[in-house]
Amino acid sequence: MIDRLKPVSVGPLPCKICGGPAALYGVVDFNKSCEELRGFRLPLSGVPIYYRRCANCKFLFTDAFDDWSTEQFKAYIYNEGYAAIDPDYQGKRPLNNARFVTQLWGTIKARTRVLDYGGGNDVFCATLRANGFPIAVTYDPMVEEYARRPEEKFDLVTCFETLEHLPDPAGGVASLLEHTADQGHVFLTTVAQPVDFDQLGLNWWYVGPRNGHISIFSKQALALAFARHGYKFGSFSDTLHIAFQTLPPFLTLKSQ
Ligand SMILES: [Zn+2]
Repeated sequence: MIDRLKPVSVGPLPCKICGGPAALYGVVDFNKSCEELRGFRLPLSGVPIYYRRCANCKFLFTDAFDDWSTEQFKAYIYNEGYAAIDPDYQGKRPLNNARFVTQLWGTIKARTRVLDYGGGNDVFCATLRANGFPIAVTYDPMVEEYARRPEEKFDLVTCFETLEHLPDPAGGVASLLEHTADQGHVFLTTVAQPVDFDQLGLNWWYVGPRNGHISIFSKQALALAFARHGYKFGSFSDTLHIAFQTLPPFLTLKSQ
């Protein structure tokens, strides 16, 4: 049985991103997963997970797992059942990400040291190295093999489908920026709340506690989380985002 869930408090709590008031917003079963989008549905667990949403920046989160240690996350979320509810984790997603990063950063790859933060496996970095990036390192505290925290800084820090898993997302952003070199870039994916989120509410497919999706950003919340550290923020889409102090060359407008 799932243990050590934090008891629900009825009143508003401070938003984990901006400190604004975050009242209770809705509740879903623990077994709600992102694969429901593709018709795969786990049986109900009977464990309710409450989410709350910030009135200011619209960040949506649950504090139910705030008291969990790594052991609890591994026992109840990142366990042997995880692959069934996140089938793209092993290969498809990192290969697509590597293709995209190679397209964007390929012309400056010789001087781009890459850190993949929360990478899970090394497929993404191995593909970059095969594509000619001299340094591409995986760091993921949840995976023993890659849990050693690197001491050096990197020109490009990538963070794919990770921020939504963090019970302390502001701390996560601070941590990945600690690894970002001066004038470096952060390229990340997390699906931001769509424009019709108010109609969808917690029925939206990306709200999936079984996937460990506990911190669901709005674009405003993403921008705020990086602005606190002096970074500008831009989005290619609801999913693909970049944080920077200086624009990377492929985004710099060339004079005619
Ligand atoms: Zn907020």
